[in-house]
Amino acid sequence: MSIYKCFSCSAKIKSEDLNKRFLCPKCGARIFYKPRTKMKTVTSD
Ligand SMILES: [Zn+2]
Repeated sequence: MSIYKCFSCSAKIKSEDLNKRFLCPKCGARIFYKPRTKMKTVTSD
């Protein structure tokens, strides 16, 4: 299972939710992108 992000409102949406309905549940946009799944929290200070 992967997480997508709405291009419009940047809400996080599960791929299984998009299988039911390819719409952002928050704003109704249909453009999504897949953020990098392996994200490390890097603090540069
Ligand atoms: Zn949205």
